[in-house]
Amino acid sequence: MTETPKNAAHPRTRAVHHGTRRSQYGEMAEAIFLTQGFVYDSAEQAEARFIETGPDEFIYARYGNPTSRMFEDRIAALEGTEDAFATASGMAAVNGALFSMCAPGDHIVASRALFGSCLFVLDLLAKFGVEVTYVNGTDLDQWRAALRPGTKAVFFESVSNPGLEVIDMKGVAELAHAVGALVVVDNVFATPVFSRAVEQGADVVVYSATKHIDGGGRALAGVICGTRDYIRKVVEPYLKHTGGAISPFHSWIMLNGLATMDLRVRAQAESAMTIAKALQGHRKLKRVIYPGLPDHPQHALAMEQMGSGGTMLALEIEGGKDAAFAALNRLRLISISNNLGDAKSIVTHPATTTHQRLSDADKAYLGITPGLLRLSVGLEHSGDLIDDLQAALQ
Ligand SMILES: *Cc1c(COP(=O)(O)O)cnc(C)c1O
Repeated sequence: MTETPKNAAHPRTRAVHHGTRRSQYGEMAEAIFLTQGFVYDSAEQAEARFIETGPDEFIYARYGNPTSRMFEDRIAALEGTEDAFATASGMAAVNGALFSMCAPGDHIVASRALFGSCLFVLDLLAKFGVEVTYVNGTDLDQWRAALRPGTKAVFFESVSNPGLEVIDMKGVAELAHAVGALVVVDNVFATPVFSRAVEQGADVVVYSATKHIDGGGRALAGVICGTRDYIRKVVEPYLKHTGGAISPFHSWIMLNGLATMDLRVRAQAESAMTIAKALQGHRKLKRVIYPGLPDHPQHALAMEQMGSGGTMLALEIEGGKDAAFAALNRLRLISISNNLGDAKSIVTHPATTTHQRLSDADKAYLGITPGLLRLSVGLEHSGDLIDDLQAALQ
C-alpha cells in the first residue's frame, strides 16, 4: 500500500511524508523490509514480474526494496527529479551515474577540483576508453573550449571539496546542453536543502547520503537522481547487476535523516556563517574561506545558486603544517576526523589525510596548502565552537 500525502508542496513536508509505503498493518514509522527477496503467489506471477516489474513490485534486494524505494521516492521529490536510485555509498552513486551512461570512445569534461575517489572513477573510465578532459571549473571559457559536439557528459562538484569553489551551474549547463551533453553534478556540499540543481540545468544529481542526509555519521549511502528513463533504463540495470545496492537498513536510516535534514542543515549553515564572521581577520589566520562571506570570490553566485554559504568552511592557518597540527591538537570539542555533514563538528587537515595522495602540483592548484583546515560545522552551539577554535588558535 502506498500513501501519497495530499498536502506535500513544501520540501519540509515532503521530507517527512513523501513516498511512505504502509503495509497491511498500518505501521506509523517506515518499516525496514530486511529481506533479500520476495515470494510470488504463482509461477506465472514470478514470470510476469521478471518480464515487467510494476511500481510496487519487488524481486530481489539488489534490484530494489520497499524501504529503499521509499528513500528514493522521497529524495527525488525533494530534488525535483522524476526518479532516484539509492546506492551503497556516495562513490557507488558517482561510479553508477557515470559508468552506466558511458561507452568506449565517449568524451567527458570534468572539473579538476574533485574529491580524490571521484578522480579515481574518471581515471578508470579513461582506462576503458572514455576520453576525459579536465578544466578549471570556475572558468566558463575552459568549459566552452573543452566541449564538442557529441560530448557525453560534464561532471563537477557544485561546491568543491575542500577549496569551496562554487561552479556556475547555469553557465556550464547552457554550454553542455548546446552540444547535447548531460550535466552530472556531485552536489554534496550544496546539500539537498540548498540545492536548486535541476532548476539550474542539472540532468543528474548525485549525493553521498553519508553526509548531510544521514546527518549523524552512522551509515554509508548514496543516491542518483534523474529522469525516470535514465534511472530505470540506464542506472538500474547497471547497478542491479554490478551490486551497488543500498542495504534496506541504511535506507531506513536515510529516510529518518531526511525528515530532520532541513532543520539541521539550516542551523548548521547559520552557525557556519557566525563562525566565519567571528574568525575573519584573526591574526593567526591567513584566510577564512566561506561562500557566505562577501569576500569569497563566488559569493554572489553562491547566494544565487544556493541562497546560503552552506555548512562547510576552510581556514588557512599562518605557519603551515606545524601550526595547523598544533591547532588541531588543542581542540577540545571539535573532533579530528574526515566525515562531514555530521551533527558533531569535525575538522580535517586535507593535505595529510583526504587529499594526501595528490601531487604537490595538484594540491597547490586546488589550494590545499599545508596550513589549510576544513571545518564541517555541526549542531553544537556556535559560541562553544568559536571558543574551541579561538583557544586552539592561541
Ligand atoms: C564523501 C563524498 C563522496 C563519496 O561518498 P561516500 O559516501 O563516502 O562514498 C563523493 N563526493 C563528495 C563531494 C564527497 O564529499
